[in-house]
Amino acid sequence: MKAVQYRTIGGSPEVVEIEVPEPGPGEVRLKVTAAGACHSDSFVMGLTEEQYTYGLPLTLGHEGTGIVDKLGDGVTGVAIGDSVAVYGPQGCGRCYQCAQGKENYCERAAELGIAPPGLGAPGAMAEYMIVRSDRHLLSLGDLDPVQNVALTDAGLTPYHAIKMSLPKLVPGSTAVVIGAGGLGHVAIQILRAITPSTVIALDLGEEKLALAREVGAHHAFASDADAAERIREATGGRPVTAVFDFVAIQPTIDLGRSVAGVESDHVIVGVGAGMLPVGMLGAPYDSTVRAPYWGSRAELFEVFDLARAGLVKVETEVFPIDEAPEAYRRLHDGTLRGRAIIVP
Ligand code: NAD
Ligand code: ZN
Ligand code: ZN
Repeated sequence: MKAVQYRTIGGSPEVVEIEVPEPGPGEVRLKVTAAGACHSDSFVMGLTEEQYTYGLPLTLGHEGTGIVDKLGDGVTGVAIGDSVAVYGPQGCGRCYQCAQGKENYCERAAELGIAPPGLGAPGAMAEYMIVRSDRHLLSLGDLDPVQNVALTDAGLTPYHAIKMSLPKLVPGSTAVVIGAGGLGHVAIQILRAITPSTVIALDLGEEKLALAREVGAHHAFASDADAAERIREATGGRPVTAVFDFVAIQPTIDLGRSVAGVESDHVIVGVGAGMLPVGMLGAPYDSTVRAPYWGSRAELFEVFDLARAGLVKVETEVFPIDEAPEAYRRLHDGTLRGRAIIVP
């Protein structure tokens, strides 16, 4: 079968031919219907040999959907032919965090060698993939896999980030979204769907700002030296309630800090190298800084229900598997509209 693999440190992803995997006891094989390309993949492929811990070769793809194709011994929770989405941040299923569905914060995953598909385990950018347990599969029902596969990360991650801030996002509040890319353009829609907040998006190019407005941002400004002033004008001088930073390099973190008010949430989602110091000298009083990772299984159900209700729609650019390297080039260059989806 074809698979998109990262094979050498510093190299580019390659389309290669590998064996179709067989499901072991308790495992499920999917015939993949779609896989999303995330900026985190680019981040991982940019790590040095010392920093890189995911194993080589690595079949990419931590956003995946598929049709159940073969069951390992003992699997009863899904049936052959089911259309499903993969919950990526898989845990042990038994610890305190997992018991709450927060497998993204599993206490034992690292110790047990459990890694998400595409981020350690073989991922979804292939014709077939193995999923460790039917617990990690959510039924898609009538939802189109290509349109919705990115909800498993580009939907789930901002949903979790925003949900934790809901008590503050009351009428009159303002939420700033920095980076209207794969995650950010979904974040804007989630904010519009589940909060009454005024939503202000920041990005670099006019096309990204146009997309931000199309998907519901009340305002969209260039992420430059004037951005803080533009935000203040838009809010009538009131401070920002929550900043969701999907870039998180030092300039965007500093910008977020400069507009965030007392009791604000400053939520760092991007894996940029910026840092946000917290202390009595500098941070807004009683502000909260969070660095959330992915989301819980229950939250993925909620995200799919938002899609079913027509409240969230991922903008996609679809690439056949042979063109996956081109999709990653476009992601790297920042020229994608929404999410790049790979179809095997
Ligand atoms: P993306 O490339 O699709 O989107 C990033 C967007 O940021 C692009 O639209 C780009 O134009 C914009 N941008 C770049 N520099 C900017 C700047 N200085 N100011 C404003 N906008 C700027 O990436 P993505 O797949 O949406 O991922 C976003 C980030 O989130 C990445 O760092 C990724 O690694 C991270 N991520 C984190 C988690 C988590 O669990 N915390 C999960 C998934 C992705
Ligand atoms: Zn991701
Ligand atoms: Zn666990």
